[in-house]
Amino acid sequence: MPLCVPEIRGNEWQYVKNCLDTSWVSSVGAYVDRFEQKMAERLGAPFHGVATVNGTAALHTALLVAGVQPDDEVLVSDLTFIAPANAIRYAGAWPVLIDAEPGCWQMDPQQVELFLTRDCEMAGGVLRNRQSGRRVKAIIPVHILGHPVDLDPIMELAGRFDLVVIEDATEGLGGHYRGSPLGGIGHIGCYSFNGNKMITTGGGGMLVTGNPQWAEKARYLTTQAKDDPLEYIHGELGFNYRLTNLQAAMGCAQLEQLDAYLSAKEAIADRYRQELCMVPGITPMPTVDYGQSAWWLYTVRVDPAQYGMDRKTLMQRLAAEGIQTRPLWQPLHLSPVYRQAQRIGGEVSEQLNSSALSLPCSVGLSAAEQQRVIEALVRLGG
Ligand SMILES: *Cc1c(COP(=O)(O)O)cnc(C)c1O
Repeated sequence: MPLCVPEIRGNEWQYVKNCLDTSWVSSVGAYVDRFEQKMAERLGAPFHGVATVNGTAALHTALLVAGVQPDDEVLVSDLTFIAPANAIRYAGAWPVLIDAEPGCWQMDPQQVELFLTRDCEMAGGVLRNRQSGRRVKAIIPVHILGHPVDLDPIMELAGRFDLVVIEDATEGLGGHYRGSPLGGIGHIGCYSFNGNKMITTGGGGMLVTGNPQWAEKARYLTTQAKDDPLEYIHGELGFNYRLTNLQAAMGCAQLEQLDAYLSAKEAIADRYRQELCMVPGITPMPTVDYGQSAWWLYTVRVDPAQYGMDRKTLMQRLAAEGIQTRPLWQPLHLSPVYRQAQRIGGEVSEQLNSSALSLPCSVGLSAAEQQRVIEALVRLGG
């Protein structure tokens, strides 16, 4: 039983066949435009979407559009898939790792405030990290596992310190924060359509923003910064970060089904919560009153003292029964790549990393399959 696999049961075949039949297979085409429009529509009126080759490219582009320069610093969640931190380095900037908060496992706004007020100073209209001397320019809160970050305090701090907020809403596509779709609250939002995400194009990504100049700039940078497409005049260093029409065709079909996927994922989450809250030593994933998770990967915490085995052993025992599970990411401050980075806190990320386990939660997971996971968790405990 796999952890989380794509669900392909809509117009994917038809739309992709249409690309093949018409030879519109490459990096321009009606499906690219439509995919961008449909994504922007989900966010509401003033939004623009720029499709990219993957989510990491969307993040890299977002940082460039936000004006992040080499040697700047960017705050990012310590407990996340590594991509947003890597994107910061691609831009030549340096990540400052912000711990998770224990309640909902997301970037802790209090740690953000601590860093900005304790470690930074405003000098000549520029916010600088006192220790490194570098300019602090942006924040990337990552909605991990689909669950919303508490964004209001982060947006307030960003306003106060003149920082750009780039939401990494890859795992949160379809989730909400105080009624607003995730990815549409910060200044820029980024999504990924990799095979294991909420919807997939095989590989792909998108940047969304309500700022038309930034959208235009993103389009420019992702298409090799062409000033004159005919004469091959390029105004600056650009990138080939375009999504193909073939992939966008799949994206259009997947997006049509997103609401159905979200309902299916929520039903899976509800069932897990109801059944697992009774198992000693298993703590179901948190819910919050300020938002609605997209329930990307349903995750529980395992308390070895109460449950009778640790997360690692439980993973192996479930694997032996053909049930795939997955731990959370190694906190970035422990990764060889980011060991040198400044971190604010990090203990909560480590605790979550050692105890959390994601359970099978594909959109197509049957009730019988889920029951098998639940029974295994009940049986192996205590
Ligand atoms: C998957 C993921 C990405 C990267 O997306 P790719 O399309 O694989 O480049 C970025 N951020 C988060 C939080 C992710 O889960």
